[in-house]
Amino acid sequence: MTTKRDFYDVLSINKNASDEEIKKAYRRLAFEHHPDRDRSEGADGRFKEINEAYEILRDNDKRAAYDRFGHAGVGGEPTGARGFEGHSGFGGFGDIFDAFFSGSNGAARSRPSKERGADLLIEMKLTFDEAMQGVEREVRFQRSETCDICRGSGGKPNTEPEICSSCKGTGEVRRTQQNLFGQYVNISACSKCNGEGRVITQPCPTCRGNRRIKKERNIRVVVPAGVDSGNRVRMNGEGESGRRSGSPGDLYIELNVAPSPMFQREGLNLFLRLPINLAQASLGGEIKIPTLNGEENFKIPSGIQSGQVFRLKGKGSPDIHNKKMKGDLVLIADVVVPQKLNKDQKELLEKFKDTLPSEIDFINKDETKNFFDRLRLNF
Ligand SMILES: [Zn+2]
Ligand SMILES: [Zn+2]
Repeated sequence: MTTKRDFYDVLSINKNASDEEIKKAYRRLAFEHHPDRDRSEGADGRFKEINEAYEILRDNDKRAAYDRFGHAGVGGEPTGARGFEGHSGFGGFGDIFDAFFSGSNGAARSRPSKERGADLLIEMKLTFDEAMQGVEREVRFQRSETCDICRGSGGKPNTEPEICSSCKGTGEVRRTQQNLFGQYVNISACSKCNGEGRVITQPCPTCRGNRRIKKERNIRVVVPAGVDSGNRVRMNGEGESGRRSGSPGDLYIELNVAPSPMFQREGLNLFLRLPINLAQASLGGEIKIPTLNGEENFKIPSGIQSGQVFRLKGKGSPDIHNKKMKGDLVLIADVVVPQKLNKDQKELLEKFKDTLPSEIDFINKDETKNFFDRLRLNF
C-alpha cells in the first residue's frame, strides 16, 4: 500500500482553513519548492504533492469528498505524479504553477513565437513617359533569407542545439521580488538563450548561427500606367524572411518619376503650353502638338488670346486604379510677340497698324472681364 500524506498536512494548514488560507499556503509552498529554486533531493516530488493537495482543497466539491472519504474520495489511491496528472486535467505541475503566477506577466513569459520578416523599401526611377505608359522592369535588391544550409535552425547541419543551462530549457527566468502584498515572481525571458530554451553550440558555418543570410535577388516589377512620384508598388511576400516560420515581409517599390519638360501634371490632368505667333493667333490655323500618344494636329481657331484654354478630353494621364479612366490634356495659349523684326516684317506691321483704331478702349466691360478671367486660369 502506498502512504499518502494528508493534504492538509502537505499545505501545513488545519482542517477548517478558509479558501484564502489555502491559497496563501499554496502560493508560499509552491514558490518555495518550485524545481527552479529548490535543488534539494526530492524537490520534484514535494512540488507535485503540494500541487495535488491544492488541486483538491481549492475545489469545494473535491474538498468535501476528501474530508469524508480521504484519498479514496478523490479517486486518489495512486501516488505521486501519475495520480496528480491523471485527475487534475492539467498537463503537469508547470501549468498549474503558471496559471497561478503568470497573471500580469503573461506577455513576458511567452516563448518567442513566429516573427514576420521585415518589409523592404527600394526606389525606382522612371521617366515621365514610363510613368504614363506603364513599364515592366527587373530590379536588383538585397534581402535576408532563411539560410538554406541549416534551414533556419542556425546550427551546423546534423547537430542539435543544447538545452540552455541557465533556464533548463524553459526559456524563462523567475526572480522573487517583494512588494507590499508579499512575495511575487517576476518572470522574464532567459537572456542566455533569448527565451528559446536552447542554445546553439555549433553554429552553421554559412550563416554563422544567424539563421538568415543576405541574398541578391532580381524581381520583375510591373508598374501600371499613370503612376506618380511617391506611389508605391507592393510585392507581397518579397521582403525579408520571417523567423521561426513567420511569414515573409513585403517589398515596396517607391517610384520616383522625372518631371516632363513639356507637361505639367495636376492629378490626372496634363497641362501644355501652346505657343502661337501673332498671325496664327489672329488668323487661326493648324499646328502639331505633343500628346502622350505622339504628335497630333490641333486646329487653332482665329482670334486667340494669351491664356485661352483648350481642353482635350481623355488625353491626360491614365488612372492607375481604372484603365478606362483618363484625365484631360489642357492647352494654354501663349501668344508670342516677336521681339526682333526684319525690315520687311516691320513694314508689313506698320501697314497693318494703320488699319487699326488708334484709340484704346479701357472701359470695355466684357474685354476687361475676359482678361482677368484668363489670368486666373480657372480650368
Ligand atoms: Zn545557416
Ligand atoms: Zn535559457
